[in-house]
Amino acid sequence: MKEFGYSGKNRRRVLIVDDEEINRLILGRMIAEKYDPEYAENGEKALELLQDPSKRYSLILLDLWMPVMDGFDLLGRIRSDEELSNIPVIVMTSEKAAEARSIKLGADDFISKPYRSPEVIKARCDRIIQLYENRKILRSAEKDTLTGLYTREFFNEYIIQIDTFDSQMDMDALVLNIEHFHMVNEMYGRSMGDKVLGCVGEILRELFGDSVFIACRPDADYFYMYISHRDDYDTVFARFNSELSAVTDIPVIRYRVGIYEHVEKSNTIEERIDHAKLACDGVRGDYTKPISFYSKELHEVDLYHERLVHDIDEAIFNRDLIVYYQPKYDITGDTPRLRSAEALIRWKHPELGMISPGDFIPLFENNGLIQKLDHYVWAEAALQVRKWKVRHGISIPVSVNVSRVDIYDPDLKNRLSSIVKENKLTTDELMLEITESAYADDAKALIEVVEQLRGMGFKIEMDDFGSGYSSLNMITTIPIDVLKMDMKFIRNMNRDEKSLKMVELVIDIAKFLKVPVVAEGVEDASQVETLKGMGCDVIQGYYFSKPVMPQEFEEFIIEEVRRRKKAEKK
Ligand code: C2E
Ligand code: MG
Ligand code: MG
Repeated sequence: MKEFGYSGKNRRRVLIVDDEEINRLILGRMIAEKYDPEYAENGEKALELLQDPSKRYSLILLDLWMPVMDGFDLLGRIRSDEELSNIPVIVMTSEKAAEARSIKLGADDFISKPYRSPEVIKARCDRIIQLYENRKILRSAEKDTLTGLYTREFFNEYIIQIDTFDSQMDMDALVLNIEHFHMVNEMYGRSMGDKVLGCVGEILRELFGDSVFIACRPDADYFYMYISHRDDYDTVFARFNSELSAVTDIPVIRYRVGIYEHVEKSNTIEERIDHAKLACDGVRGDYTKPISFYSKELHEVDLYHERLVHDIDEAIFNRDLIVYYQPKYDITGDTPRLRSAEALIRWKHPELGMISPGDFIPLFENNGLIQKLDHYVWAEAALQVRKWKVRHGISIPVSVNVSRVDIYDPDLKNRLSSIVKENKLTTDELMLEITESAYADDAKALIEVVEQLRGMGFKIEMDDFGSGYSSLNMITTIPIDVLKMDMKFIRNMNRDEKSLKMVELVIDIAKFLKVPVVAEGVEDASQVETLKGMGCDVIQGYYFSKPVMPQEFEEFIIEEVRRRKKAEKK
């Protein structure tokens, strides 16, 4: 076995326990070329040093006859201590009779006094240290057969050894994840999936062969690495990319790497990996940038997110989560008519202040908490529609956002229908907005759910249309009731030709599908004019109003009631 599998100085610490100073010095000098000797003049002093948690000894060279605490006594204590029993002990003696007793107590080898051949002594030290370390490694070693990399336990054990024996070495922690790995299995078969994982292991070992490098595969498609610091990750991973495609024959295998550079050794191994993982998860979905570095700011964001996750239940309970409403106006006639509203959540945090959904919706979508939040919003919105209906005698339907996580919930239909029933509404008074990108995930499953909801009378609006990747073919087969155009086209419409063309195209698609089109993010009169000219049906945006509290929204309803009355009189 190659010594510890990595190059480096590997200076191990050896404790020499002898009451004679001259003996300590002779022995120390003999081994100093390769090891760092430390000294104790009796068993008690030795025990003190051995119990210092900042030090790790690879070998004890032990004299037997000493004052205060002798070698037998110390040996007994070492062998009965769980931690210390992992350290080999070579006894130094001139008496044959003492050998049997020390063997019984757990000595591993002997060196006879007086010391004659330094070569023999050094060789014995080497052999016993190697034996112990290999044994320890073998005990926990179980290589991952697929990748040839280590298991998590072994990986951890190795990091401890590197930290201990090369404590000054500047190290980086890396986490690599193969994205959508299940897709590789599904598209090319499991054996191809296995091959990809095997190749990843092999390529990583080869690419980092010139560094101190260890890696493990703790989980299906995750790889952890601990590497002596380097500055060329961009080039290395570009090579990783091309080699992986070449050997697997799969043109694009997406992966993400999170790197925690110059690890803080006072952090636990778990923390170092967590930092790298945080950076890794941070680049999720950004295909142009597969590598991301851990930073203090990232950590702050993570802490902030943790806080939000922690506080969500309390926020619901204390009603710090407030549903705002933004009006949608029908612009097809001479005067705009209030048609409906969109429910948009706001979080009035007692300590952090107002938090916008952009800060917590993506987070809750990732960890599943979005369901809890959406259920709350749906119930609030339905209750609000009911209240307005009773108070003003007209029905202003409200659209709620439905996340992709909600769609796969088998209880979704029941929940929505009971919310509607409880508030004595019809299903078309609570409309459902589903973002276009959700359709791209698993179009078949989604279409099935959408069909069922439409069958129950719910109206489905496709949100952010144009931001996702739906093909024209898919659009024509998808069952929807309203198209909501992505805001970015509107924003740039009066500035660039391409956006204007996109707006035209989306309106044409809507016409072709025979569904109304809603333009979101409309802020000024010129946009309204252009959209109206193109045949856009409905407008939502600051031009009419920002999302507002229910009390404020009531003004729009009152105005609408007035308008209707006036129209009736005509
Ligand atoms: P969305 O569903 O596309 O909502 C439209 C967003 O555009 C809202 O942002 C709205 O305030 C903003 N907006 C409307 N008109 C204008 C305008 O004229 N100019 C500009 N600059 N912005 C305008 P908001 O409220 O920050 O919500 C952001 C996203 O968060 C929403 O996008 C939606 O995807 C999500 N979201 C909000 N509330 C909920 C909720 O209760 N559940 C779920 N699942 N998602 C929600
Ligand atoms: Mg929406
Ligand atoms: Mg939208």
